[in-house]
Amino acid sequence: MHSFDFTRAGDAAGAVAMAAKAKTAQQGADIRFVAGGTTLIDLMKLNVETPTRVIDINRLPLDKIEDLPGGGMKIGATVRNSDLAHHPKINKDYSVLSQALLSGASAQLRNMATTAGNLLQRTRCVYFRDTAMRCNKREPGTGCSAINGENRTLGILGTSEHCIATNPSDMCVAMAALEATIHVEGMKGTRAIPFGEFHLLPGNTPYRETVLEPGDLITHVTLPPPRSGSRQVYLKLRDRSSYEFALASAAVVMDVADGKVTYIRVALGGVGTKPWRSREAEETLSGKAANSNNFRMAAEAALRIAKPQSQNGFKIELAKRCLTNALNTASQG
Ligand SMILES: Cc1cc2nc3c(=O)[nH]c(=O)nc-3n(C[C@H](O)[C@H](O)[C@H](O)COP(=O)(O)OP(=O)(O)OC[C@H]3O[C@@H](n4cnc5c(N)ncnc54)[C@H](O)[C@@H]3O)c2cc1C
Ligand code: SF4
Repeated sequence: MHSFDFTRAGDAAGAVAMAAKAKTAQQGADIRFVAGGTTLIDLMKLNVETPTRVIDINRLPLDKIEDLPGGGMKIGATVRNSDLAHHPKINKDYSVLSQALLSGASAQLRNMATTAGNLLQRTRCVYFRDTAMRCNKREPGTGCSAINGENRTLGILGTSEHCIATNPSDMCVAMAALEATIHVEGMKGTRAIPFGEFHLLPGNTPYRETVLEPGDLITHVTLPPPRSGSRQVYLKLRDRSSYEFALASAAVVMDVADGKVTYIRVALGGVGTKPWRSREAEETLSGKAANSNNFRMAAEAALRIAKPQSQNGFKIELAKRCLTNALNTASQG
């Protein structure tokens, strides 16, 4: 294993200044923050990530879940996934987030994994994790082994000719449907990034996964005020019932009045190269009767632009059924 300096950050400004010396905040960054370590340390053991400096942010005061004045919640970057999932207000008012978190990984991993680390977890594409294989995300310009290789679990939405890897996070799918905002402290001050603008499509630059720049420290995530009485469902379909990533998943936040859908937010997981908000599904359902036919039409709309790879065509129908089922469950209250 390669050697690296390990520093414990004493304050956020110092951590930002140290990390700002990095050449990039993307794949191959020479300086990395570490929180729970469940993504970073794994990838360092595989030599997929080889930082020369690792900055431990666990002592920064970023581990609180707080009410915001005027409603909404503030979730610190180092809040553990288990603490977030079991927080009484998250459980009650943002249950889609609790459901998504509890469907991920294992209890032990959730006790370590943090909010910011989860936002930045990396794809599970097997070629990305194997330095003997060609991978444009890990080593730009070398090619994509997955396009003509093992791609059963990979993406059908937002892919490019350079990368078809899925974003594996469950938490992110719920946050996309909840319209969360990600807050960052960097060398130029603080900024708030709407969830949908945080992750990038692979395009020609699959090694660039987010809008983060060197030095950027995620400090917290905010959730808008809860919608009273909204129905929230996260449904995850996978090869085995626990300790497995999604083949397809759906997060739904829905209000129904007089049998009609009056508010709807939909996001998909396991199928997109980023957490996949489906405005097509939302537009199809908005104002319509809350019934199975309309739910299926919304799912058709969500997958209309899906592009199957050689082994994952089954995901199109799987994702449609996943979303239809989640909408049906949500409509039943
Ligand atoms: C066996 C296994 C199974 C899993 N199953 C699932 C699953 O089913 N569903 C799922 O969603 N996830 C799953 N995961 C992934 C897991 O959720 C992530 O590994 C975890 O959320 C990452 O959080 P962390 O705090 O450990 O991140 P770390 O490993 O500490 O960091 C990850 C990345 O985030 C960066 N970072 C961390 N904090 C900050 C910050 N505040 N600001 C800027 N950058 C930061 C680090 O530099 C690093 O690049 C699984 C993981 C494993 C190992
Ligand atoms: S799909 Fe992306 S991560 Fe996987 S091999 Fe291709 S370029 Fe690499």
